[in-house]
Amino acid sequence: MSSALPQGATIGILGGGQLGRMLSVAASRLGFRCHVYDPGAHLPASDVCAQVTTATWDDDGALNAFAASVDVITFEFENIPTATLDLLEALRPIRPNRRALAVSQDRLTEKQFLRDLGLMTAPFAPVTDPSSMTEAIAQIGAPAILKTRRMGYDGKGQARLNTAEDAGSALAEMAGADAILEGFVKFSHEVSVIAARGLDGRVAAYDPGENLHEAGILRRTTVPARLTGAQRADAVLLAGRILNALDYVGVMGVELFVTPQGLIVNEIAPRVHNSGHWTQNGCAVDQFEQHIRAITGLPLGDGHRYADVVMENLIGDDMDRVPDLLAARDVALHLYGKPERRAGRKMGHANRIVARV
Ligand code: AMP
Repeated sequence: MSSALPQGATIGILGGGQLGRMLSVAASRLGFRCHVYDPGAHLPASDVCAQVTTATWDDDGALNAFAASVDVITFEFENIPTATLDLLEALRPIRPNRRALAVSQDRLTEKQFLRDLGLMTAPFAPVTDPSSMTEAIAQIGAPAILKTRRMGYDGKGQARLNTAEDAGSALAEMAGADAILEGFVKFSHEVSVIAARGLDGRVAAYDPGENLHEAGILRRTTVPARLTGAQRADAVLLAGRILNALDYVGVMGVELFVTPQGLIVNEIAPRVHNSGHWTQNGCAVDQFEQHIRAITGLPLGDGHRYADVVMENLIGDDMDRVPDLLAARDVALHLYGKPERRAGRKMGHANRIVARV
C-alpha cells in the first residue's frame, strides 16, 4: 500500500474511447482524477473525466504538459506511436510497460514471444513480398490467414486464403504492409481470460468467457465458457505466465482458441478488453477498477464471479433495441454516448445476468 498513489492523484489515459470512458468512471469511484489525451473530437471519455487534451500524437508541447499534469500514464489502445511513448516515458511511469506494448503491437513479435514461453500458437511465418509468401505457404499450407503485422484490430487488415491460389489477392490486400501468414486453427470455440497483475507482482484472473465473433467483431461473451476444469486452470495459468514474463502491471486480455490439442493463444491485448465487460455486472471488482487498482499500486480485487452473465455488444443499428433492453429484467445497459451511429461501430453493450452463482 505504501507505494499507492494518494487520493486525488491524476491518471493520464492515452485514448478517449469507450474503454477510456469506463476506466475514468472506475478511477473516479476510487478517488482518482483522469486526464485523457486523444487527437479526436467528441470522445466518449470526455463526458466523465476531469480533463481532456485534444492534440496529435506528435505535439511535443501538448505531450509535455499532459505528462506534467499526471502521476501515472496508461492507455486504452495499443497502437500509440513509438516517439510519443519515448517522450512520455522519460517523464512519468507508463503502466503496463513498453515491452508489453512492443510485443502486442506486432503480430510476429507477439507470436515469437508466446512460442518462446512454451505456449501454443497457430503456425506462422513472416511475409514481406511474393517470394516470402511462396515460402510461407510451402511451410504452412492452406487454409491460412494473412494478417498485417501492425495496426490490425476487429478483423481489419486480414485476408483468408482458402487455397494457395489465393496468395496473390491476399498479398495485394496487405497493400505493401509487412504481414504474417497464420495456419488456420480448427477450433471448437473461442475464449478469453482477463487477468491482472499488480505493482507487487500479485496476479488475479477472472473466469474465462466464451466469445462469439461476427464479421471479425466481438458479438457476445458468455460466462462461464464451455471449458473442462483442466482447460479452465490452463487458461488462467497461461495468462499468469504471460503477465509475469512481461513484468506486467495492469489488466490484460488473452484470446484463446479451444482445440482438442489444447488451448492455442490467438493474441494478447495489453489493456482492458471488450470480452471483459461482463465483469461490470458479474463481479464486485470489474476489469476497469482492477486496472486502476493495479496501475495506482492498490491491492487487486480477487476477480471472484458471483453471476453467470451474457455480454452483448450493441453495434450500429442494434441501438434500436435499447428501449427493449431498458425494459428487460436483469439487464444492465452501458452506453458510450456516441452521437453518430455507424455500421460496425460499437455504441454500447448490455450485460444480462443469467443466474447468480
Ligand atoms: P484477430 O484479429 O487475430 O483476433 O482475428 C479475428 C478473428 O479471426 C479471431 O477471433 C478468429 O475468429 C479468427 N482467426 C484469427 N486468426 C485465426 C487463425 N489462425 N485460425 C482460425 N481463425 C482465426
